[in-house]
Amino acid sequence: MFAKALLGFLLLFALFATIERRCGLHRQRLFRRGWTTDAIYYATGNLIGQGAAIAIPALLALSVLKWAVSPGLQAWVAAQPVALQLPAVVFFAELGYYWAHWLLHHVPWLWRFHAVHHSSEQLDWLSTVRVHPVDQVFTKTFQLVPIFLLGFSVETLGLYALFSSAIAFFIHANLRWRFGWFNWLLVTPEFHHWHHADEAQAHNKNLAAQCSLVDRLFGSFYLPRRRPRLYGIPESVPQAYWQQLIYPFTRHQRHARP
Ligand SMILES: [Zn+2]
Ligand SMILES: [Zn+2]
Repeated sequence: MFAKALLGFLLLFALFATIERRCGLHRQRLFRRGWTTDAIYYATGNLIGQGAAIAIPALLALSVLKWAVSPGLQAWVAAQPVALQLPAVVFFAELGYYWAHWLLHHVPWLWRFHAVHHSSEQLDWLSTVRVHPVDQVFTKTFQLVPIFLLGFSVETLGLYALFSSAIAFFIHANLRWRFGWFNWLLVTPEFHHWHHADEAQAHNKNLAAQCSLVDRLFGSFYLPRRRPRLYGIPESVPQAYWQQLIYPFTRHQRHARP
């Protein structure tokens, strides 16, 4: 498992280091500030975090929310072609994720956990994984419970898992590419970088992680032509991994957000 995670890391590193170098939006060092911390998140998230973040919603769907399962509906959903199930799973998972993310931005005690993800001052593919484990389990629960209840096929869920990982790394990457109308449908680096921008107009905007159509539906879509210059938040989140883990539980100055 460790060898597989390490190989995955090295492949992603080689791929993104190459394209970010050629097509970067901002000039920044390859091993930027916080890179080591994020590499630790990558290791712990892969080896421990992801398991818990998937097992908890699965257990919830199988136990507490068993009453909400409709075998007839699940059989009908699973019988649809994968080409139809895949866009549906992206959309329904996004509906769950969007509201979890909205709560993380608007409920002060939840924001403390989510502030860790927003503490990156330079974005690249590896910034994706800087997520507090509580944040990770919280968002995954909202994201996965609806799709477990709807009963998508195993094949669809496998493809969705691949798509989810790929798009998460991609949207954080330091890329200057423009995506035109595509930004209205799916989340892109151009769109998600605004979510991390340290500018008042961009606060609490672009909450979707995969399907930006949901931000259009709920009125939180924000995409000016210019590009963000600064990322991060004014509150000072420590840089070390262990300090970030305990940060939400410590006393710290209250910030205007949320
Ligand atoms: Zn956020
Ligand atoms: Zn992000």
